Amino acid sequence: MIPNWLLQRAYLTPNRMALSYEDKRWTFQQLLDEASLIARKLRWNGLNEGDRIALLGRSTPEMVFIIHGCLLAGLEIVMLNSRLSSKEISWQLDDCDASTLLVDDEFVDRIDELSTPKLTFAAIGSSGEESFSITKVWEPSRTITIMYTSGTTGYPKGVRQTAGNHTSSAVSSVLNLGLAEDDRWLCTMPLFHISGFSILARSVIYGMGVRLYEKFDAASIVEEIENGTVTRISVVATGLQRILEQFEKNGSVAHPSFQTMLAGGGPVPDDYLRRAQAYRLPVLQTYGMTETSSQTATLSSEDALRKSGSAGKPLFFNQIQIRDAGQPGDFGEVLVMGPHVTPGYIGHASERDPLEDGWLPTGDIGYIDEEGYLFIVDRRSDLIISGGENIYPAEIENVLISHPLVKEAGVCGQDHPEWGSVPVAFIVGEEKLTAPDLELYCKQQIASYKTPKAFYFVDELPRNASNKLLRRELKEWAKK
Ligand code: ATP
Ligand code: MG
Repeated sequence: MIPNWLLQRAYLTPNRMALSYEDKRWTFQQLLDEASLIARKLRWNGLNEGDRIALLGRSTPEMVFIIHGCLLAGLEIVMLNSRLSSKEISWQLDDCDASTLLVDDEFVDRIDELSTPKLTFAAIGSSGEESFSITKVWEPSRTITIMYTSGTTGYPKGVRQTAGNHTSSAVSSVLNLGLAEDDRWLCTMPLFHISGFSILARSVIYGMGVRLYEKFDAASIVEEIENGTVTRISVVATGLQRILEQFEKNGSVAHPSFQTMLAGGGPVPDDYLRRAQAYRLPVLQTYGMTETSSQTATLSSEDALRKSGSAGKPLFFNQIQIRDAGQPGDFGEVLVMGPHVTPGYIGHASERDPLEDGWLPTGDIGYIDEEGYLFIVDRRSDLIISGGENIYPAEIENVLISHPLVKEAGVCGQDHPEWGSVPVAFIVGEEKLTAPDLELYCKQQIASYKTPKAFYFVDELPRNASNKLLRRELKEWAKK
């Protein structure tokens, strides 16, 4: 059995700092008090143990109280991505079958037309209270959250994440990263996404403080990293890029107490990793997905330089293998096993068993080198087969992005009468950049068949609400 996280944490270390936001702060006892109040109000509104609700909010302290309030009340929380359109939100609400939508007042106009009963944050705040006794322990199989995948390869799938999944993920992470008494994790990742939610889970499981940001503010984030007021942060590649630009501008370096910049959610260009060294930023590449409640593998700090580009080794409780790989270095689909892997999907994907003989097929292509380090190459669905050769768009994008005049690059296959398919590139870059420049630049670094056959200059690349590049849309662009 797993202790009810916040209840146990507030009992063990009530006076430790749990959360800070702007100039406000809360201890774990204060967090429990705020969350318990919300839980009683949710009960008063007829929400009972085991009910499934959906939650749409911003990364604010109120949202943190509501998340913990829902957990204390024993509710399953469907985390809705606030960057989704009304249509996408309505699709997910239908799919997940939540009884009620808890919604930040800021977003009510977006959900006007929905049929799911709504409860705004303001309405929760002003409602009555009903006392109840909080469940002190959780079955590991209990569903804590449901999160939709990013929908990069198709319709988003609602993933069930249990108490056991989240807890083992948090424990695995700390076995790798370690923990100091004054650790503070800066959370600028969305709380509805596993990258942000997992920070809240680690906070209550470890007794570690979270410094919360509603928006990504590179100047303030870098100031905190310089001053040592935070010791860890999670980022995606675009966030890392903005942090690097800010350090460049400031001409400063990270405070010696700064421990970890966990970079994941997608590939991180090698160029960023190299630049990060100059600012003493320990960037640890990590690989994970919604189905694995955050990290599956992470590169530990002592390997960061030597194995740059690798997603590291599996965390302690997890296992990784490559489908049909005969020897180290063979490419294949990455398969994952461990207590952090979801027991299943809900809604339209509920029929689909996420596991095959106990392993989760990830849809990602990768390899494990002779020392056991995992390298993620690309998504299986984005593979370009050109004249019988396999080409991975991410490899080419990595080269393009290292060009000083390129800001963003997206590569996909375009039909070709002779080769079947050839790579073409979409570039967001400086005006003086030309296609021949890029062609020459690529040819100096990668094989000719991998060099894009066309370079299209665009204002922006198609991305989903998680800011992930949608190569399936690039393929449509390439057809035109
Ligand atoms: P969908 O499953 O709906 O297509 P998605 O897979 O993008 O969407 P997420 O669960 O948010 O949804 O993302 C997980 C995916 O992100 C992984 O399967 C992988 O493709 C990519 N990813 C995560 N970390 C890394 C990494 N370090 N390097 C490369 N890719 C990564
Ligand atoms: Mg996926």
